[in-house]
Amino acid sequence: MANTETNKELMRILVVEDEERIADFVCRGLASAGYAVEHTPDGRGALDKLHEVDYDLVILDLMLPDIDGLEVLEKVRTRKVSPAVLILSARGGIDDRVKGLELGADDYLVKPFAFVELLARVRALIRRGQPVAEKLVAGDLVMDCIRRKVSRAGEPIDLAPKEFSILEYLMRNRGKPLSRTMIVEHVWDMEYDGLTNIVDVYIRHLRSKVDDRFPVKLIHTVRGVGYMLDPAGRLPSVAGQAEPE
Ligand code: CA
Repeated sequence: MANTETNKELMRILVVEDEERIADFVCRGLASAGYAVEHTPDGRGALDKLHEVDYDLVILDLMLPDIDGLEVLEKVRTRKVSPAVLILSARGGIDDRVKGLELGADDYLVKPFAFVELLARVRALIRRGQPVAEKLVAGDLVMDCIRRKVSRAGEPIDLAPKEFSILEYLMRNRGKPLSRTMIVEHVWDMEYDGLTNIVDVYIRHLRSKVDDRFPVKLIHTVRGVGYMLDPAGRLPSVAGQAEPE
């Protein structure tokens, strides 16, 4: 393992969300960002799990099929060891926001949201107790996720925010082909289904900044799939592999 991941494998996140698509999108994203993620679709399940496990963070939907999310939050806050809580809700009303924060939520994100925004907030909440620098390394490419800086062979590279997010996603999954859909879902709003072509545009920008000046190319096109970052400069065998969705 070339990259120096921090203690994130110890970071446990519980996702309480009944909408399957959102739960799946959030869980997959957090897992690929290196967190240990568990999911439950209702409030009862959440209370059971919270009883058994000390989570570092709970991502809590408000409109659940059984118990209201705010009620779950209230119960969480009466516990002695209480995890950070990020409320995730379609309710954007000031009342809900205020009520959630009054009841002790640490942050509040309104749907629909971009995964990067969620990830930034998750990191901020988890970092409160974990002031460890986080660095990703792939060959001579180095990314400082906290300071949002990238360099290759010691030369700093300036990236726009979306370019940074795509590169970070590729670096965290290096050696693994990622489909355009996966990249869009990770970096843009999850509603942007039809915009996979934009990925090609951003990859072009990234290549001009990260690869063009260097003999070893890190960003590879994987035919029929999408893109992959590989510091060894080799291509994986993807014959017959279905597009990962
Ligand atoms: Ca819901």
